[in-house]
Amino acid sequence: MNIHEFQKLMRRIYYHRDSKRGTTRTFEWLVEEVQELGEALKERNAKALEGEFADVLAWLASLANVVNIDLERAATIKYDGKCPKCRQVPCNCSV
Ligand SMILES: [Zn+2]
Repeated sequence: MNIHEFQKLMRRIYYHRDSKRGTTRTFEWLVEEVQELGEALKERNAKALEGEFADVLAWLASLANVVNIDLERAATIKYDGKCPKCRQVPCNCSV
C-alpha cells in the first residue's frame, strides 16, 4: 500500500466522521496522537511505538482528507528526491 492508497483507505473508513468533526477538532486529535507517540518513545515499547506511528499517520491522512490535500502528491512535490532547502542528498543544512 502506498501513501495515496492509505489516504484513500482512511477516507473510506473515517471520512463520514472526519468531515463532521471538522478541521480544528481533527487537528486536535492528530496533536493528541503525536503526544501519545512521544510517550511511547519514552517507554521504548516497540509494539506500542508501532501502533502510535500508525495512529499518527492515520490522523494525518484524516486531516488531509478533511482539507482535500493529497498527501502523496504534496510529499513528492516538496521532497522531490532531495532536501527542499539545500537541494542536496544527504541534507547539508546547518541545524
Ligand atoms: Zn538540507
